[in-house]
Amino acid sequence: RVLGVALVGLGRYSTRELGPALKQTKWCKLAGVVTGSKEKGEQWAKDYGFPVKNIYSYDTMAQMADNKDIDIVYVVTPNGLHAEHVIAATKAGKHIICEKPMANTVAECDQMIAACKAAKVKLSVGYRLHFDPYHQELMRLAKEKDFGPFTNMTGDRGFIMQNKVWRADKKLAGGGPLMDLGIYLVHGACMAANGAAPIAVTAKEFVKTKPELFTDVEEGISWTMEFSGNAICTAQTSYQHSADKFRAEAPNGWIEFKEHAFTYRGMVVETSRGPLSFTPPNQQALQMDDFANCILTNRPSGVSGELGRRDMVIIEAIYKAAATQKRMEVKI
Ligand code: NAD
Repeated sequence: RVLGVALVGLGRYSTRELGPALKQTKWCKLAGVVTGSKEKGEQWAKDYGFPVKNIYSYDTMAQMADNKDIDIVYVVTPNGLHAEHVIAATKAGKHIICEKPMANTVAECDQMIAACKAAKVKLSVGYRLHFDPYHQELMRLAKEKDFGPFTNMTGDRGFIMQNKVWRADKKLAGGGPLMDLGIYLVHGACMAANGAAPIAVTAKEFVKTKPELFTDVEEGISWTMEFSGNAICTAQTSYQHSADKFRAEAPNGWIEFKEHAFTYRGMVVETSRGPLSFTPPNQQALQMDDFANCILTNRPSGVSGELGRRDMVIIEAIYKAAATQKRMEVKI
């Protein structure tokens, strides 16, 4: 059986990536949408061939309970709305994929995980890089230790933000670039640490160059993550410079994501043994098919709500470290 997915929020990521990816999936297809715009929903119904009865608004999501066409709800709204939309989907009894960051706070993550448990539905977070062969190689190297354990990780991610959008609004975004972009470095460093979380973090916020845009979120931040075994990650993220790279060094070798480290196109990756060249798959199609398979075979998702929560615990500790200028211990 092919499972039906309903996308919640038809913004850029849904339009450019998830919708097209759902034309390449084997175990699931787009069966409905949740949108604030009826006209937009009707256009999607036409483009993707689902009935107009499967168009919902944010207020009518509970009615999905009666709709057998929809098995999975995929929440792709601004971060600050994830908790509300995930909880609404649990009330309709649907399995859920939630975009990263999972929510604005750890407390919201806890509520989401509890709601999914109570409704007996599966929860997954949109960590698509688990389905990318270069990041799978990073995880394999971390596990099998070809070069020894990774002990020194560095990363940088940023883009230049020109206008005030929800990503610079604390209520909707939870924070600034750390929430949107830095989370990839946090997650990547934990991958390099073979799935371990850091034991402590330190952090420092950048001086704002556009204080009018970044009134209640950081414009940039640098931080360190200390892992057991003397491994350390030093990273930075900002909305004032453009970057997308990550490197992990071990005693006998290294892997470096030189360009487009955490995106879906144009990744350039080398190791101390030479360049890597995998055929880039459609990460989102693989990610959604994997979740559909979890449901069909009743196994837990490898990119679970707990993993989304772990990253939020680390991010909250980084914000606290920046605010207090103190080393903060991380307790997952
Ligand atoms: P976007 O601004 O393009 O789209 C957001 C959608 O939410 C819009 O359709 C908007 O109408 C809707 N929305 C509903 N209520 C809203 C409100 N109160 N305020 C603003 N918008 C509202 O954003 P996006 O880039 O599609 O990001 C959406 C989510 O997807 C975010 O959580 C983001 O972090 C995540 N994302 C993930 C990836 C990835 O690679 N995994 C890439 C991009 C975005």
